[in-house]
Amino acid sequence: MTRYDRDVTVSGDLLLWNGRLLDGRGGPPREHVAIDVRDGLIASVEDIAGTTAPDGARDMAGRTVLPGLIDAHMHVMSDLERSPGFGPPPPLKGEEPRPPELRWFVLAQAARAFLRAGFTTIRDVGSYDDEAIVLREAIRLGLVEGPQILTCGRIISATAPGARIFGTMYQEADGPWEMRRAVREQIRRGADYIKVMATGARSVEREDPEPAQMTRVELDAVVDEAHRMGLRVAAHAEGLDGARMAIEAGVNTIEHGFSLHRAPELLRRMADDGIVLVPTLSTFHDLADRFAAEFAPTLVTQAERQRDEAYATLTAARDAGVTLALGFDSGPPGANARELMRMVEGGLRAEEAISAATAGSARALGLADRGTIEAGKAADMVVVDGDPLEEPALLCDLERIWLVVRAGVDVNKA
Ligand SMILES: [Zn+2]
Repeated sequence: MTRYDRDVTVSGDLLLWNGRLLDGRGGPPREHVAIDVRDGLIASVEDIAGTTAPDGARDMAGRTVLPGLIDAHMHVMSDLERSPGFGPPPPLKGEEPRPPELRWFVLAQAARAFLRAGFTTIRDVGSYDDEAIVLREAIRLGLVEGPQILTCGRIISATAPGARIFGTMYQEADGPWEMRRAVREQIRRGADYIKVMATGARSVEREDPEPAQMTRVELDAVVDEAHRMGLRVAAHAEGLDGARMAIEAGVNTIEHGFSLHRAPELLRRMADDGIVLVPTLSTFHDLADRFAAEFAPTLVTQAERQRDEAYATLTAARDAGVTLALGFDSGPPGANARELMRMVEGGLRAEEAISAATAGSARALGLADRGTIEAGKAADMVVVDGDPLEEPALLCDLERIWLVVRAGVDVNKA
């Protein structure tokens, strides 16, 4: 699909030598591998045991190389409420007011942080004031280094209390024709795909996340309009009725989806239809414990239950053969691999969690050109010190990220 053409302005040649390959497909590692990169694409992956490195090769010395990580659910925004310690400290009372334009520099810092942490592609699932679109363009034009960003533009919601809280992150619409128009407006705005609220949000006191928040006719209109125009659809779905409606309507990804463990037939249907689940475990921790003091008490209690359900759904979905994707849905930017750790703590094997963060997320985004290390794929890769199968936590440690390559270019030299 041309919409997803590679956005890189610079692509490189590179010969990575003697690595231990985790190719993203969930199989066992391959030792002593060389990866030849030409013009930003992987030209070959070869066994080089017993041979010496040619001149100009970058010797990985047995380090582990894996596909560039992909976050399928992030809110790319300059608001740092969920990112304590990232960016400048909040202004103190009496200090000079900050120019609002500083937000663009915060976004540039976030973009760099994603990349340095090994995240070479990010799917933005809703930002304020079209910030994600602006950042995507700045990266695409080579003004700032960062991952490739895909964005939904604004989140399409039925008229609902959440729109009062989330403001410009949302676009309200009611009835099938308004839904179609809302999709068309996101396309005009520059959206790469469409996000829709199939249920209310757990972070809004006056929204009930259990029932479907729009009608089947409305959701069908969104999916039909988006798919006809070649855009995928991500459905925010918490309760079962909305999740069922979204799955039956043929959306491409279910976001959160914690209630699905209650309905094994829906997980089977997702597996059969290739609908990807983005479990977003970290966001439930944000509400239930990390930022509990900042939320209405009823939401905290609700999030504790949802967190337990999200973990139950994680393994139920894995067992049902549903493709899983990594979605941090939290902060700070660059700490995204914490979600991978939570998937492991929740019962995925390390190779399954890594596969979710690479091949699974690529499927969620509909990007067939990445997510695995194979000839012909985009040369987005991460090389780490140590064995992430034995010690997945090393992916959270910037000191252990030895090299990040995007489109064949070492991002530290870009
Ligand atoms: Zn979210």
